[in-house]
Amino acid sequence: MDGPETKPSNFIHDIIDRDLKTGKYDRVHTRFPPEPNGYLHIGHAKSICLNFGLAARYGGQCNLRFDDTNPIKEETEYIEAIKRDIRWLGFDWEDREFYASDYFEQLYKYAVQLIKAGKAYVCDLSAEEVRAYRGTLTEPGRESPYRNRSVEENLDLFERMRAGEFPDGSRTLRAKIDMASPNLNMRDPVMFRILHATHPRTGDEWCIYPTYDWAHGQSDSIEGITHSVCTLEFEDHRPLYNWFLEQLGIFHPTQIEFARLNLSYTVMSKRKLLRLVKEGYVSGWDDPRMPTLSGLRRRGYTPESIRDFCDRIGVAKANSVVDITLLEHCLREDLNKRAPRVMAVLRPLRVVIDNYPAEQVEWMEAINNPEEPGAGTRELPFSRVIYIERDDFRQDPPKKYFRLAPGREVRLKHGYLITCVDVVNDPETGEVVELHCTYDPATRGGTTPDGRKVRGTLHWVSAAHAIDAEVRLYDHLFAQTDLEEGEDFTANLNPDSLQVLTGCKLEPGLADAAPGSHYQFLRLGYFCVDPDSSADHLVFNRTVSLRDTWAKIERAMKRQ
Ligand code: ATP
Ligand code: MG
Repeated sequence: MDGPETKPSNFIHDIIDRDLKTGKYDRVHTRFPPEPNGYLHIGHAKSICLNFGLAARYGGQCNLRFDDTNPIKEETEYIEAIKRDIRWLGFDWEDREFYASDYFEQLYKYAVQLIKAGKAYVCDLSAEEVRAYRGTLTEPGRESPYRNRSVEENLDLFERMRAGEFPDGSRTLRAKIDMASPNLNMRDPVMFRILHATHPRTGDEWCIYPTYDWAHGQSDSIEGITHSVCTLEFEDHRPLYNWFLEQLGIFHPTQIEFARLNLSYTVMSKRKLLRLVKEGYVSGWDDPRMPTLSGLRRRGYTPESIRDFCDRIGVAKANSVVDITLLEHCLREDLNKRAPRVMAVLRPLRVVIDNYPAEQVEWMEAINNPEEPGAGTRELPFSRVIYIERDDFRQDPPKKYFRLAPGREVRLKHGYLITCVDVVNDPETGEVVELHCTYDPATRGGTTPDGRKVRGTLHWVSAAHAIDAEVRLYDHLFAQTDLEEGEDFTANLNPDSLQVLTGCKLEPGLADAAPGSHYQFLRLGYFCVDPDSSADHLVFNRTVSLRDTWAKIERAMKRQ
């Protein structure tokens, strides 16, 4: 049995199909449960696409639930950023915006229910002692000396914990399960801890807070979540979540684990991303080198390309590292369709066309996007002085260099054929400062009526009409693919991940390009307008170069 959509089936669909068939559930309800302690990253996108995708596939619903159980690390700024990013990615939780903190009272009541059933107790061991009593994977734990308190005493102490009678860390509420369980999560885990901290949503109403383990499964149950999809590290927590739900006798979601996304050249832990921001390694959560959704957006990623990427990687049960060139491939495929082609010269070299009339300007027709016939054409000014890319000229060309060189003819895209007749060098440094060329008036539009062969085609802009811009080029934030475990990850930062070029020359039509809009700079890559950009200081980000490493890998694999 397959769902209504045609996307390929995976093991999660199999489980859901079975649950619908056996009548375990008659609907599908999922949720995306971020902790508001940082910005969302591309790994979260995988989870968002999966959870909202399942709801769509089965005609069900997906909630947004903030798991806000740790007031020390959580901030309203993060809540707003998370909502913005999910919407941008193209998903809608409608009116189902929930918070674990909405359930604090219910979680307190459930805890009282367990105390009354003799399944939970107040423990006076310190955090350190709890750890010491817990045992290891090879040794069983020891029972807390407070484990056998009476129900009355537990109820009294728990109520006084809530009332604020005890200092932070002095007591906890623990589940009474099994200190000898081979699963450490079952060794009397903590359910509530004392923490006199102001919560972004509940303020000072509470001085005890539920642990994530106590909050998560019950929050799913309260919301009627049928399929609680989470990452692999929660597999060992599943017996505990099941135990809680069975003891309480409440609605029981099915937990399904999948492998989290790891990407080459990227760190994905919020703790590490927070360090990059706080310690100034990047300009903020939305720095275009960050794997955050806000960073990717500023870099020029489209929601469509990220959703396509998430579809292609699929879901699996085994952890792996996805090659970042696949993400870039998805982006290129999308931008190729939508980004207008324009001419921009990043490192300009002045070229004077000696035989072109000094005051003349011709408007040359240029096609906007060969991939999209409806995109039309525009007019580009051509005049006696132009800029070309420094890289496109060599005074001493090596073999197989087909661009401009002394005495050589090249084609200017949408322009004319020109031949280099003279080179002006800086008398001190020898650097090339200007070229002199001649043009062939019979080659308007870059055509060759006599069929002669010209191998190089260059982009260019008219010097008198060009506008100035700053262009930011990016490389991977990290230098290596595999970050050593234990080693400080900041030692691995790529020192050349950002290169800022000023004095770049763009075709005049880009003067009023809106922030966020995408372009292909011919031969150079895809670029977008940065939010920092203004009419008197244009700023472009290079989103991605044109070289598609993934497509190359794919072709090589097919040949094998
Ligand atoms: P971190 O460990 O970096 O703090 P987290 O998993 O604790 O991340 P949450 O805010 O709790 O962050 O994550 C919300 C949801 O997104 C969870 O269901 C989590 O499993 C999922 N998620 C987080 N990181 C990834 C990832 N790299 N790949 C897939 N899903 C992820
Ligand atoms: Mg988490």
